[in-house]
Amino acid sequence: MSDQAQARAAVVRQKGGPFQIEDVTLEAPRESEVRVRIVATGMCHTDMIVRDQFYAVPLPVVLGHEGAGIVEKVGRGVTKVVPGDHVVIAFAFCGKCDLCTTGHPAYCREFYDRNFGGGRKDGSTATQAQGKPLHDHFFGQSSFSTLAIATERNVVKVRKDVPLELLGPLGCGISTGAGAVLNSMRIPAGSTFAAFGSGAVGLSAIMAARLAGATTIIAVDVKPNRLQLAMALGATHTVNGASEDAVKVIRTATGSRGVDFALESTGNPRILRQAVEALDILGTCGVVGAPPMGTEAAFDVNDLMVPGKRIQGIVEGDSVPDVFIPQLIDLFMQGRFPFDKLVKFYALEQINEAAKDSEKGDTLKPIIRMSRPA
Ligand code: ZN
Repeated sequence: MSDQAQARAAVVRQKGGPFQIEDVTLEAPRESEVRVRIVATGMCHTDMIVRDQFYAVPLPVVLGHEGAGIVEKVGRGVTKVVPGDHVVIAFAFCGKCDLCTTGHPAYCREFYDRNFGGGRKDGSTATQAQGKPLHDHFFGQSSFSTLAIATERNVVKVRKDVPLELLGPLGCGISTGAGAVLNSMRIPAGSTFAAFGSGAVGLSAIMAARLAGATTIIAVDVKPNRLQLAMALGATHTVNGASEDAVKVIRTATGSRGVDFALESTGNPRILRQAVEALDILGTCGVVGAPPMGTEAAFDVNDLMVPGKRIQGIVEGDSVPDVFIPQLIDLFMQGRFPFDKLVKFYALEQINEAAKDSEKGDTLKPIIRMSRPA
């Protein structure tokens, strides 16, 4: 087929990695699909846990789910974008179910299959290496590649006066933290907030809490460099969980009440328990950290029930990508959402180094820059 395109992609062939850079072939975009020339793709915890098979996405697979790039070719039925448009690629959703049609595509009834299924809904894939199919369509994109096939529904057209290489993380990690605060928990002005875990998601939540007008914002982490950055981004207090009792410090900082809202982004059930304990009466704890499937957490039932506390699971910040991503870009351009402070760029060939730096906590948000086409 002459409409095929050649790309370089990072392929995971076995549980635990590594990412291998390979030459791949992509089919032409089908009816409602869009081929995007990827400029840069953010790396997120979810890429690592799928590489390590916490979630059983079939291998070999091309991961990457925070892509940003330029539309190169569109399927016959596509009207939303045209070649040359700048896009951020968000998660995949059906657009038709009761949750999608009521503004909650992050909770789409087909979310798991469409994002973790390893191919299109019909089981086909668009990518091949040496004549053999590779699993793809990871989060409707598989964007650790110089080219990605997305769908019309999950590409978000963005303004062209912003550095495109910076924008990919708005498709997942940054939106997750900001959306947890602005869309899911809807933190009101004057409230108190604690981020348990101050990685890219927690720090995005801290920036959003400042935007929302929270007056006490507490960052909890074990890395001093992250706590320092948290202060620069809007935190009013920090807690080093390695040496301090987070619940105690939070009680002291809030006149012994606890916080109105907390966000757990570490995926550690022990920290989740602390986050619930640190809540004030009628407080809400959002949960975005993902431990391995089957992980259980403990909490004191009476400490939940009597004070009317709530625990709320949150995916993708409950965002409608076409609405939320352009809003975050406008806030960034106004200097009110400086998420660029979290990123560090790597070349595609350095992708394993990026993963290592991220897992060590040295890099908050790696962005993989794609080289020019061969
Ligand atoms: Zn749906």
